[in-house]
Amino acid sequence: MITAKEVWEKVLQVLEKEVQSWCYDAWFENLKPKTIEGNTLILSAPTEMNLRIIKDNHYETLQRALKSLGIFVYDLEIISEKDGATISSERQNSSKELEKEEEGFQFNSKYTFDTFVVGDSNNFTHAAAQVVAETPGKKFNPLFIHGGVGLGKTHMMHAIGNYIQQHNPSLKLVYTTSEKFTNDLINALHASKYSKDTTHNEKFREKYRNVDVLMIDDIQFIENKPSTQQEFFNTFNELYNESKQIIMTSDRMPNQIPNLEERLRTRFEWGLMADVQPPSFETKVAILQMKAAGEMFVVPDEVLYDIASRVESNIREMESLLSRVLFFATLKNTPVTLEISAEALKDYARKNKETITADTIIDAVCTLCNLTKEQLIGKKKTKDIVEPRQIAIYVINELLGLPLMAIGQIFGGRDHTTIMYA
Ligand code: ADP
Ligand code: MG
Repeated sequence: MITAKEVWEKVLQVLEKEVQSWCYDAWFENLKPKTIEGNTLILSAPTEMNLRIIKDNHYETLQRALKSLGIFVYDLEIISEKDGATISSERQNSSKELEKEEEGFQFNSKYTFDTFVVGDSNNFTHAAAQVVAETPGKKFNPLFIHGGVGLGKTHMMHAIGNYIQQHNPSLKLVYTTSEKFTNDLINALHASKYSKDTTHNEKFREKYRNVDVLMIDDIQFIENKPSTQQEFFNTFNELYNESKQIIMTSDRMPNQIPNLEERLRTRFEWGLMADVQPPSFETKVAILQMKAAGEMFVVPDEVLYDIASRVESNIREMESLLSRVLFFATLKNTPVTLEISAEALKDYARKNKETITADTIIDAVCTLCNLTKEQLIGKKKTKDIVEPRQIAIYVINELLGLPLMAIGQIFGGRDHTTIMYA
């Protein structure tokens, strides 16, 4: 008989790969396995705060990890060691979730259109996704969303799913990843081969073809999998011919997935291709603002700017920096300040440091001080020019560490003592 401790160790192994390591250390590792009651694993949390944080932010992850073991223990209850508070209401929800899973997929309730910040980088996809959510199967079929990691593709797909479930609950939605699709297919083929029972194949087809909206996340993983491509080709055709909506995401455009059959590639391009681009600085800040507010934290703008400037484009990465800062502030029981964020993020270099050049700095100073580049690097010595010039020289030296001579060159051949003085 498997013990609570053994189950928990397995769950931890899954979590270790899934969650940020600091988050793992801070919140998951402290949970203690108590016992198994029926199908429920009972854990205890050392503090009320640990309990809250797991409940509010990580419950779904925890539950997914448990379910992924595929054993008879699939439900969770967490109690607080101190005061015996439990989150048994979650437990009711989770059994409801299981029922629901049979009826239809449970989308992440945090990934909605409302929580998606729209900027230049994603407004096209956002608009297209809304059209598809309003009129599935009618306008853009298939919808193919592509773009780099952590830019919101999965969020967008869940937003469509949440919207349809809310506004059009009679529609049957299936959300899957191309990996899950492949696994399901392999299991079905395997089962029918060894038990000579074709109901598995029928079940597989029933599951994926008897739907109104089929969503496949990260479709790029079907490259190099000929039998999955074959099956998906058939699934695609059947759904498409019946005007059922197909939505896919991919980290690349179809023509950049090398081992994808030509007939699938052309089909992927039949409908609308929508891309998500790396967010602008303003969009990054707006996203941080929203996430911080969602966590009920007041975070000064300067901290948001600081966090945004440390991440190139991956929003998931940016969110984890924010969580780190909030966590630090919680631990120290202080408001979020620039000092706190600097301390929390001291190991996370500013990503865009490499892209800063002397020109970027000169441009920035010129913009701020309302000067032209010629004025700034020129000969004139009035106070309103000298001061900005010295600031630019100082910042170039400080940030880029260029030799004084080189800086002198940039500033119209000034000698190094002038530069040192600045
Ligand atoms: P992808 O699937 O493209 O790798 P995700 O959809 O998983 O990326 O997004 C990563 C994280 O960033 C998620 O937590 C998501 O909510 C968040 N995110 C991405 N884009 C936005 C946005 N425009 N507004 C709010 N949150 C976003
Ligand atoms: Mg994704």
